[in-house]
Amino acid sequence: MKAKSLARALAVCLWLLNLSLSPPAYGGARIDLVVEHGVDKEAETQVRSAINTTIDFFQNTYGLSLEKNIRVLAAPDKLNYKEAIKQWYGASDAMAGYQADRSVGLQSRGTIIVDLGERRNRHGKIFTLCHEIVHHYQSQESRDRHGAIRWMTEGVADVIAAHILETAGISGVDFKQRTLAILKRTQNWPKLENLHTPKDMEAANRAYGSGVTYGTAGLAVLTLVEWRGYQPLFAYFRALKNTSPEEAFYQAFGARVSDFEKQFRPF
Ligand SMILES: [Zn+2]
Repeated sequence: MKAKSLARALAVCLWLLNLSLSPPAYGGARIDLVVEHGVDKEAETQVRSAINTTIDFFQNTYGLSLEKNIRVLAAPDKLNYKEAIKQWYGASDAMAGYQADRSVGLQSRGTIIVDLGERRNRHGKIFTLCHEIVHHYQSQESRDRHGAIRWMTEGVADVIAAHILETAGISGVDFKQRTLAILKRTQNWPKLENLHTPKDMEAANRAYGSGVTYGTAGLAVLTLVEWRGYQPLFAYFRALKNTSPEEAFYQAFGARVSDFEKQFRPF
């Protein structure tokens, strides 16, 4: 009971602390950041820097600006994260609890909620925030068809998030080295062709662990970036608007997705 009333009190504080980033000069929509009471100053500074670097990356790399405003809510702990999922997404208590236990960041219809309190490693939390903002751009450019090949959706979100944090100077373990270490330790990872649907991803998360599943997706996308650069990543998501995922992949990378999936080895 005590915890619940505390959450309510903080939910009220949330509106008092509503802060807005100034709109980018290119005139697109903006990202509103809401920092809940309890998030420390350094975390807030890093979150702002990560958001600005993300906006710059998409503008400079792809000429993309946001079409609709994004709201980002930074929660200081798991309890407030769960409450925010209920309040902002209209989720039931049970659903919010389920989601809160299994994630540190969520994105739905332009509202991103990130839990800045659970993980010891703050880099990981801000990484998750950037990952979710990348999903927002994917959704915008593909007209919500970005989830067609899940390892692409998740791998691109991770690879761009890692690049953004590095650009913003938010220190953390090197994405490629860390991911390679995870996969080398297990010597067992899912095949890309078995990571196409959300159900595939869930099954792989259960069988291999999410670190290995997302790591496989991330290393596959890094291979594409090392091969063709960042440009084709969003050529792919743009093409999804009008064509099949196979054709979109071919248009973007000049290779058949099935061939790439067969040939890919993480190391
Ligand atoms: Zn994701």
